[in-house]
Order: sequence, then C-alpha cells, then structure tokens
Amino acid sequence: MSAAPPRPSRFPLGLDRVHGRASGAARSPAGEVLRPQAPLQHAAQAAAQQATGRHQPSGLGMDSAAVRQRMVQRLRADGVRVEAVLQAFATVERHRFVDSALAIQAYEDTALPIGLSQTISKPSVVARMLSLLFEGQNARAAGHLGRVLEIGTGCGYQAALLALVGRSVVSIERLRGLYDKAVENLAGQGLRDLRLIYGDGRLGHAPRAPFDSIVAAAGGEDLPEAWLEQLAVGGRLVAPMHDARRGGQGLLVIDRHGDGQLQRQWLDAVHFVPLKSGAA
Ligand code: SAH
Repeated sequence: MSAAPPRPSRFPLGLDRVHGRASGAARSPAGEVLRPQAPLQHAAQAAAQQATGRHQPSGLGMDSAAVRQRMVQRLRADGVRVEAVLQAFATVERHRFVDSALAIQAYEDTALPIGLSQTISKPSVVARMLSLLFEGQNARAAGHLGRVLEIGTGCGYQAALLALVGRSVVSIERLRGLYDKAVENLAGQGLRDLRLIYGDGRLGHAPRAPFDSIVAAAGGEDLPEAWLEQLAVGGRLVAPMHDARRGGQGLLVIDRHGDGQLQRQWLDAVHFVPLKSGAA
C-alpha cells in the first residue's frame, strides 16, 4: 500500500490523554512513547518552522543553521540528490543529539559516540541510506517515505530526519538508556507521527505494518523474518547486514514488487554496531 499522498491523520488516536508527562510525551503499558499529533507538514514547511525561534548552544556560536548548510553542501557535493533528504539535514539540529562536549564536531562527517557503546552514524552514511529509501517504488510514487520503520533509535537523530521525510515513523530501540535519551531529545520538536518504542526491533512492529520504508541502524548476521513480513508491496528495506561473499558488512537493499517477489541487492561496504536480540 501507501503510495497515497500525505494526509493529516489522528495519531495516536486519543492517546495523548494517556499518562501525561512533563515532556509532553506519554507512555503506554507496552513502553511505547506516544506523542501528541502535530499537523502534517511537508518537509520544506517543517524546515522553515523548525529553523526559526530555537536558541542556539554557545559551543556552536549564534548560527548553527549556517554550519548545517555547509554540511548539506558537502552532502550535495558527495552526490546526495534527494532534495527532501538535504532539506531534512538542513533542519535537524544534530548537535542537540550528542553530548555537549561533542557538539562542536556534530556537523563533521564523522560517527560520534552516543553512550552505552553505541554510535550515531556519520551524516554521509545516513544520507545515503535515506536516499536509497527514496528509490523504493512507493516512495518514488509518493515523493516521501510513507510509513517508516526504523530499527535502532539510538539518540533519535535519524528518527527526526525520517519524521521529516516520511508520513509516519515507528522507531524501536532495545537499550532503555538510549530509548530514554531519544525520548528526551525528541520531546517538543513538533515532529509529526513519530512513535518511539522500547523493545527488540528484530520483531518489527506488526500493529503498524506494513511499512513502505524499513531502515536498520544496526547490522546483523541474518535478516529478521518479521522485517520482510512487514514490508509493504512497493516497499523498500535498507539494512546493514553480514555479507558472506564480502566477508564483512554490506548494505542490503530489498524491494517487494507488486507480484510479491523480493529483489535483493548488496551495495556499499559499511560498518554498523551489531544488531542484538532482546531488550536490555
Ligand atoms: N539511528 C541512530 C543510530 C543508533 S546506533 C541514531 O540516529 O542515533 C544503532 C542502535 O541500534 C543502537 O542504539 C543499538 O542499541 C540499537 N539496536 C541494536 N540492536 C537492536 C534491536 N534488536 N532492536 C532495537 N535496537 C537495536
């Protein structure tokens, strides 16, 4: 499904009444963080809104938007062509997702530690994966990533980008400490239809399936069956995975075509943190 154009949806259905918290987030018994619905916006509108009226941290001077623009220029020069992706990178304040001591490096093309032995991927790799998702059949037809599943929320940076280029996002994190950090980082950002879940992302998220776009931020030995089951017709999955022929990790891209056939391609060599089982 889901080549349909974006439409405002009531999400999560009335659940902003559940256990209201100071941050504006609410938590369901299943550990899901449920955010109040914000009006649906196109990436450009969201960008304009979010680029204004936020205070800047001292470490980056008065204008982190300019530093972000330079990062975007580098991404463009490196071959990133999808305007919505570039716009999202120009919008989301990466320095807010890392430790303040690392904020100064936030717009370099480098992976950074986010705690609990995990890392935020470097911008060029994230941009590459999001651009690949845009080549999925449903995404091409819709001009956005549709329903998105992210495995490995980490600090929430990529989830924020996805929320700007997708129609709805479910993001799953298995480490409680990082899940909590992401909730904090993403609170009050006005991102639409973004649902954070604490749990094992290997299981996907059946209640919101099927997904037009599935992206993993951690690399496993084998592809979890649930991801394929939850991939929409016309959907695309991009995940780092062990590639036996390569003898290391590669980016695996899987498309589900109209006839239900799955098409697999191995692309770039990559190096992601391991995909682990169970929540911790
Ligand atoms: N997209 C993240 C990158 C996080 S690094 C960001 O922008 O910050 C990858 C994350 O995947 C880590 O936080 C790790 O804990 C998580 N992870 C690994 N295996 C997982 C699993 N089975 N389910 C959910 N998250 C998992």
